[in-house]
Amino acid sequence: MIQVDRLKSLFLELVQIDSLSRREGRIAERLAQEMRDLGATVVFDQADAAVGGEVGNLIARLPGTVDARPFLLCAHMDTVEPGIGVHPVVEDDVIRSDGTTVLGGDDKSGIAIVCEAVRAARDQELRHPPIDVVFTICEELGLLGARHLDIGQVAARRGLVFDSDAPGCVFTRAPGSQRIEAVVRGRAAHAGMAPERGVSAIRVASEAIAAMRLGRIDPETTANLGVIHGGRAHNIVPDEVRIRGEARSHDVARLATQSAHMRSCFEEAVARHPGAQVEVNVMQMYEPMNVGDDAPVLRLLRIAAERVGRPVRSARMGGGCDANILNRRGFEIVNLGTGMRDIHTTKEWVRVSDMAAAAEVTLSALTLAGEGS
Ligand SMILES: [Zn+2]
Repeated sequence: MIQVDRLKSLFLELVQIDSLSRREGRIAERLAQEMRDLGATVVFDQADAAVGGEVGNLIARLPGTVDARPFLLCAHMDTVEPGIGVHPVVEDDVIRSDGTTVLGGDDKSGIAIVCEAVRAARDQELRHPPIDVVFTICEELGLLGARHLDIGQVAARRGLVFDSDAPGCVFTRAPGSQRIEAVVRGRAAHAGMAPERGVSAIRVASEAIAAMRLGRIDPETTANLGVIHGGRAHNIVPDEVRIRGEARSHDVARLATQSAHMRSCFEEAVARHPGAQVEVNVMQMYEPMNVGDDAPVLRLLRIAAERVGRPVRSARMGGGCDANILNRRGFEIVNLGTGMRDIHTTKEWVRVSDMAAAAEVTLSALTLAGEGS
């Protein structure tokens, strides 16, 4: 049914096409050709204008061979840095990067699975519903492609996103996320001649951070400060520190509480130091995803997976994906694991057999959807 060698060679080809966020033009062209070969109509939406990219989201529509509700398959085209000039290394079933870049299995494993499942369905003339394939841009920049997806061009309202690690897992819950940026301002002064005239922004920021709850806050919530910049020289009382961080939670209220706590730590520290000021910006990145255990798309996937002897179990993710956005925009979507491992590192790897297993489950889901489920 699924042709493992074909899946593998497409994956190897795709990871060697550079496609950093906003620079997905070449891979989009290659995938448009792939989809047209399969008999799809391909359009690109205008999301590139909104994000300043090379190309919009790719939307491919394949006619069904039966009259049934259309089904969506979605993965993202962009990869993280260092992601230019990927040289995949094949060791039997495992494909890894050569250690100088990421592999880009996030999310080209998802793309290869989608292409193979659709090709298998077409080759074997299976009874399948109309299939909408969406390959998004700029997922790694905060789900920007999905956010600007022209959903008027997409007929399906249920389906699968392929963008997570654990094979055999279907992710139904994912946290929402807020980004936090703080600028602490003090007053510069000569550190030796007139330190009393200065207000140290580093000291104020340190007090704020020392008082802050960070890391794993509760089973639903995490928080992190990831970047700090400040100061000018060892002999100048520092007048400015910039800090960037984030909070995530599966629970909207807890997310708001954590972000408010981080903000107030900065404000309280500033209040103890006359002359200091702070500007805190909290930006909503995306909302949590929470697809119920009784959701029809999850039921369909479970039955489809059991039919091919590859049962899936539902799980929660620690990060966001396009499904966070799509579930908020009127879709019913769960995220099926592709087998990508150690993602966003130069040690990234994937097993071909894991991708093939996900493709089998996907093909089975298309067949089941064609039966009217
Ligand atoms: Zn991804």
